[in-house]
Amino acid sequence: MINLKNTKKAGLLFHTGLLLFSIAPALIALLLLLVAGTGFAISSAGGLLTILLVQIYGLLYEKGIMDNPIPLRLSFWTLKALQSVHAFARHTPEKMVVAMNNRKALSEAGRKFSSEEALILVPHCLQNHECPIRLTFNPDSCERCGKCPIGSLLDVRDRFGTHFAIASGGTSARRIVEKTAPALIIAVACPIDLSLGILDVHPITTVGVLNEWRNGPCFDTWVNTEELEAALELFLY
Ligand code: SF4
Repeated sequence: MINLKNTKKAGLLFHTGLLLFSIAPALIALLLLLVAGTGFAISSAGGLLTILLVQIYGLLYEKGIMDNPIPLRLSFWTLKALQSVHAFARHTPEKMVVAMNNRKALSEAGRKFSSEEALILVPHCLQNHECPIRLTFNPDSCERCGKCPIGSLLDVRDRFGTHFAIASGGTSARRIVEKTAPALIIAVACPIDLSLGILDVHPITTVGVLNEWRNGPCFDTWVNTEELEAALELFLY
C-alpha cells in the first residue's frame, strides 16, 4: 500500500511552508497600505488577509479543487531555504512533496488507467553494483538473479503489462517520460530526485515510492515491490 503514515505531518509542513512564504508579501502589503495612509489597523488587516489568501490557495490545492502545484512549489522552496540553516531533518521538504503528491494522486484513484498508459520508472542505483549487465537501454537484459530488485520489478512489469524504464539521472528520466508519454507514472527514487521529478512532470499523475538506502544513498538501493504492485492495482483497470 502507498505509505500514508506521514501525510498528516506532510500537510502540516506544507501549510507551515506556505505560512512562512506569505510573511514577506504580507509585510509588503502592510507597508504599502501604511504608505497609502490607511492607518495601522486596516494595514494590519491587509497583511493578515494576504496570509489568509495564501493559505486558501494551499487548501484549494490540497483538496484537489485546484490542480496546479504552485502552492506545493512555494511551500517546498520556502522549506528548502530553511533547511539550509538546518531547521529541519534532512530531506524533510522533499518527503513532504512526495507525501502530498501521493495523497493527491490517491484522491484520483477512482480514475483508472490502461497498462499501456502506465510507466514504472526506477533509478539505476537499484542495480547491484557488481552486476556487469548494462540495463539503461534494455532492462530485459537482466537475468533476474535476485541480487537486486530489478528482476522482481521486471516480474511486476510483466504481470501488469506496463512500460518499464531505468533512468540514469534527472535528464534521462525526463527523456524517458517525453518518449513514453505516460498518463500514470509509478516512480521509484530518492527523496531529492522524486520530489523534483514530481514537480517537473505535472500534470501527469505520479505516485512516488521512496527507495531504501540499505547501503547509503545512490548505492545498491532497494525498493519494496509490494508498494508498487499495490499502486498499480489501485490505478490500473
Ligand atoms: S537482478 Fe538483474 S540487474 Fe540485478 S544483479 Fe541480477 S542480473 Fe543484474
